[in-house]
Amino acid sequence: DGQFVPWGEAKVHVLSHVLHYGSSVFEGIRAYQTPAGTGVFCLPQHVKRLFRSAKIIRMDIPFTEEQMSQAIIETVAINKLPSCYIRPLAFRGYCQLGVEPRTCPVQVIVAAWEWPAYLGPEALEAGVDVGVSSWRRAAPDTFPANAKVGGHYTNSSLMRMEAATLGYSEAIALDVYGNVSEGSGENIFVVQEGVIYTPQLSASILNGITRACVMTLARELGYTVAETLIPREMLYQADEVFFTGTAAEVTPIRIVDGRAIGNGTRGPITERLQSTYFDQVHGRREQNPEWLTYI
Ligand code: PMP
Repeated sequence: DGQFVPWGEAKVHVLSHVLHYGSSVFEGIRAYQTPAGTGVFCLPQHVKRLFRSAKIIRMDIPFTEEQMSQAIIETVAINKLPSCYIRPLAFRGYCQLGVEPRTCPVQVIVAAWEWPAYLGPEALEAGVDVGVSSWRRAAPDTFPANAKVGGHYTNSSLMRMEAATLGYSEAIALDVYGNVSEGSGENIFVVQEGVIYTPQLSASILNGITRACVMTLARELGYTVAETLIPREMLYQADEVFFTGTAAEVTPIRIVDGRAIGNGTRGPITERLQSTYFDQVHGRREQNPEWLTYI
């Protein structure tokens, strides 16, 4: 809300609307060490998505996109973090507890902290074991999947808890029609015969920023990329499957529902895209320099 406060003093009232109804929008952003200092990856894209999410739920964020970007940069700088995860959040605060949120003030926070590999330290190289969740993504006219809204993550948490209980690292959700949608906090890609496929936006997915970057990188490397409907069984037939996300970066999937993908290790296209992605975020590529905003 316009000022820096120590970690332990960042508090809200227990009757804040957001605690009761999930009325928030948020982002997850990473900043990386580069030869030119710390760079925030895809900052304008994340800030834009935050405001678009807010628009969908009729929330007016009381700052401009420029002010939000500046607050994010200053939060990284003041915490002296060479690389970190950044969480901007806009939420409905304390006023009255009816479901109609618009009488409650919109409050805004930005926090930053260190967050290593999201699906575990070995995941990036060895890949993860996952299962198709018994929980589906919400139907298109129920919860707007393309808005990154706090309350929507009840669905992701259910998926993630089920996966952990079954011994998986992560889950894959189908959409309401039974087509592949996404992970609990990642988009998904499937490689078959050298072609890269990913679910289309209307498959109840979040329009992932890493997804967009990886599609651009893949095309720069000469691959064909198709956004399409993906039937569940295509996962099992695939040569390679991988997740993308700000937190998960590019994580190979080695097993789906007990079936090995390819030969059960990170595939060659996944490896190439992953190393290109890491070169990009660490400022080691000449292409797409506008994807990094330096502190
Ligand atoms: N899907 C969901 C449900 C997510 O929470 C995330 C993480 N923000 C993603 C996909 C990946 O999006 P991004 O690449 O923008 O982090």
